[in-house]
Amino acid sequence: MAPPTRVAPLLHAALEYAAAGVPVLPLHSPTATGCSCRRPDCDRPGKHPRWHRHLLRHGLHDASTRPEVIRRWWTRWPEANLALRTGDRFDVCDVDRPDGAAALRALVRDRRFTGPVVRTGSGGWHLYLRPTGAGNRSGLLPGVDWRGAGGYVVAPPSRHASGRDYRWIRPPGVALADCPPELTALLFPPAPAARSGSDGSGTTDRVRDPSRYASAALAAEAGTVAGAVVGTRNTTLYRAAYHLGQLAAAHLLDEHDILVVLADAAHRSGLGRYEIDRTIRSGLRTGQRHPRHGLAA
Ligand SMILES: [Zn+2]
Repeated sequence: MAPPTRVAPLLHAALEYAAAGVPVLPLHSPTATGCSCRRPDCDRPGKHPRWHRHLLRHGLHDASTRPEVIRRWWTRWPEANLALRTGDRFDVCDVDRPDGAAALRALVRDRRFTGPVVRTGSGGWHLYLRPTGAGNRSGLLPGVDWRGAGGYVVAPPSRHASGRDYRWIRPPGVALADCPPELTALLFPPAPAARSGSDGSGTTDRVRDPSRYASAALAAEAGTVAGAVVGTRNTTLYRAAYHLGQLAAAHLLDEHDILVVLADAAHRSGLGRYEIDRTIRSGLRTGQRHPRHGLAA
């Protein structure tokens, strides 16, 4: 479908990122009918990782800087979009158009971003900043998501479902800037009680940083799921999805992140793909209907 000239740039770019020390991950790619994952209900065409029992057993942790691994991936999937792992070398502020751009401008006013910037295939922006230690957050501001520890971003020259390519409008080689203090304050709120939007029950003093708590909970649940033994795997997975769904309902985790991380962990436990998908979605749905009050519960 895509002209052969598409093949070399993706592999070439992946090797260049890796040479600069940034772990790379192959994603599915948009097709004429949707997504190369061939799921009719795929809601993130060309934006989610490829899972393969042998090549991608550890998901995000398998993001690689090894040229031989990268060559193998893009030989097998020449048109695979590519993602860069966030949280180590950089974090990314993901800004949608037009809401995100307006919200961000209102927050940081005259402050200018000097680091690398990507124009996304949907017309938004990825601002690359020094890592903050924060995990992923969706809805940090209206139209603004954060990709940090445990996350990834689609990177140039990947193709968006719209047919447009992601491209650098300020190159990856320019120096990273610090996260603006206004954004840092949102990423690390002084106390959970300052959060609005809960139904008044508040959060306990034991949890000083709900975002970190949620990231840690995601990692812990993934570990439990990956280590579950035969006979308990499905129940363990459901329970994990349920708990994390509660955090998603409180806007502390992104539903897609939960899907990716839990599916990866369940895959490692040996569960089949169909069962994994069904169980996670069911647990998430139920958990989201029962938001947790008091995060340390
Ligand atoms: Zn897909």
